[in-house]
Amino acid sequence: MATTISRRPLRSLVTGAASGIGLGIAAQLAARGHVVCLTDADGTAAERAAAALRAQGHEATALRLDVTSAADIDAAMAALEPGGPDLLVNNAGLQHVAPLEEFPRGRWELLVSVMLTGSAMLTRAVLPGMRRRGFGRIVNVGSIHSLVASPYKSAYVAAKHGLIGFAKTIALETADCDITINTICPSYVRTPLVDAQIAAQAKAHGIEERQVIEEIMLKPMPKRAFVTVEELGGIVEFLASDVARNVTGQWIAVDGGWTAQ
Ligand code: NAD
Repeated sequence: MATTISRRPLRSLVTGAASGIGLGIAAQLAARGHVVCLTDADGTAAERAAAALRAQGHEATALRLDVTSAADIDAAMAALEPGGPDLLVNNAGLQHVAPLEEFPRGRWELLVSVMLTGSAMLTRAVLPGMRRRGFGRIVNVGSIHSLVASPYKSAYVAAKHGLIGFAKTIALETADCDITINTICPSYVRTPLVDAQIAAQAKAHGIEERQVIEEIMLKPMPKRAFVTVEELGGIVEFLASDVARNVTGQWIAVDGGWTAQ
């Protein structure tokens, strides 16, 4: 079979696409000619982001989709073209930082519900269409915290580690056709989620934000630089391509050497 770099255009659905990494991945996919549906719990922000991509001549739509809501997932599947997306990017996420003894149960459950259960339920919803077409690509946005832990991030670390086990399992369940599922594991990317952490840690430690960046965030990364959304978009494109048809159940650490030490 001939190997092509990419089928074009892929119908793509990105969760949490109104901001940060999801927006960056959606923008890159759109710029490469793929048809993108930007979804987010904040439907207004998703529509604004899609309108900005359309203004640049790209094919982009938006849907309000809270990944923790079964009703939202059903409504999104009904609103999409029959058969659903060729490429699903499970990206929606949030953070809460606290020692376990002080971790509110509701926040713990929310983080797992968004990043693990939400990813699983949306994957469950898109798989039948992918199976009918005999093609599908699922990319989870995990984290360096899919591979290593940091104190006070128990819900985040548990959810992100869980994504890797989830992807391995679904890789086995979809091995009979050209569907793959993989997890990208970036270290820090400058997004609103990380900006909030920088401000919170500066306050908690009584230090300047510059020190949080240099002495806490970039310290475990030998390359000492933030990962960019463009790098992550390029990796999604690779995983979505035909040459990656045998890459499944894997994770790709994009961590500036953090886990090489
Ligand atoms: P962000 O806060 O900029 O964007 C997250 C988006 O997810 C927001 O638009 C938010 O509205 C949406 N969202 C939150 N809950 C949702 C829900 N229930 N349903 C649908 N959408 C929801 O954050 P980001 O930094 O771009 O993070 C995106 C993903 O990347 C997350 O899964 C995060 O864990 C992961 N990640 C981020 C970094 C980083 O350094 N920024 C590093 C590794 C992994």
